[in-house]
Amino acid sequence: LPSHIGFIGLGNMGFPMFSNLSSKIPATSTVHFYDVVPESIQRGLKESGAVAQLDPCSSAREVAEKSEMLVSMVPEGKHVSAVYLDPKDGVLGATDLSGKILIDSSTIDTATSLQVGEETAKRHPRAHFFDAPVSGGTAGAKKGSITFMIGCAESDPHLPILKLLLSLMGHNIYTCGGPSLGLTAKFCNNYLSSSITLLNAEMFNFAIKSGMDPRILQDILKTTTGCNRNAQWANPVPGLSPDAPSSKNYAPGFKIEYVKKDIGLAIAACERVGAKLALGPTTWNTYVEAGQDDRCAGKDSKVIYRWIGGDEE
Ligand code: NAD
Repeated sequence: LPSHIGFIGLGNMGFPMFSNLSSKIPATSTVHFYDVVPESIQRGLKESGAVAQLDPCSSAREVAEKSEMLVSMVPEGKHVSAVYLDPKDGVLGATDLSGKILIDSSTIDTATSLQVGEETAKRHPRAHFFDAPVSGGTAGAKKGSITFMIGCAESDPHLPILKLLLSLMGHNIYTCGGPSLGLTAKFCNNYLSSSITLLNAEMFNFAIKSGMDPRILQDILKTTTGCNRNAQWANPVPGLSPDAPSSKNYAPGFKIEYVKKDIGLAIAACERVGAKLALGPTTWNTYVEAGQDDRCAGKDSKVIYRWIGGDEE
């Protein structure tokens, strides 16, 4: 691996990814990092358990100037645009990005990702931009076990170095075929996981209200046709999955507001290619309404169970 690596965006996912990265590369390497929020930079400096040298930077552009490879992990397309395209402080404003590898792991719209890729190719023909969104939640990010879905072909010559870097933060690395297809895979995943969470919330609530011990249902769902992993390790009912946000007063985790974003992205992407959806709009509306409820706003998406009527305080 190169000895100068960059990281931009140290939030709920970014901070543990940054911590894994900076504690697994050699002490002679440097991680150059940036977040718009000064407290996040301080946290990065003080709490990451880094082995490598840490260099807090004052812009995304400075990170890009100093790093040979970088990863960005920010909320939405507009933030990715700011990180890469801002005329003064953006990554692409760096004077020379020759041979550098830029990886965006945020879950954003494909149009913005493709635009950043095209601008990179136009302004820095010898730099390489990849979409590589992740799945596995904050628990997976802490353990370093997240899955990366890279928007590139299996034959891409940069794959070995991408794998070397990303394997410091995750266990499973998939190539999805070409630019923005990592995001397509991510939309499929999040549409499924958020829909399954809602379905689990409905049926566990029903079972509990009917007088059934939810642990029995959880056990049954290990072997029956309704079986799903979320019912086991990310159950929305408090106490059923000890490591899940539902057992930690729904502390995020994956904020409920991001479900609105991700299902919205999936619906828009399906519309673009004419893929019909029956449940999407209902699921989206349900999460949007729940996100506006005081008991749910700002909490982990599993709090949908509270909105459905379970976990009554
Ligand atoms: P978050 O809101 O906790 O963190 C985002 C971070 O980006 C914050 O620290 C913020 O200050 C920083 N940021 C925003 N704009 C910036 C800019 N212009 N320059 C530098 N830093 C900037 O969000 P998160 O939960 O870490 O999610 C980040 C992305 O990862 C989102 O796209 C999300 O959908 C995706 N994701 C999240 C999870 C999860 O479980 N939280 C799982 C998989 C994917």
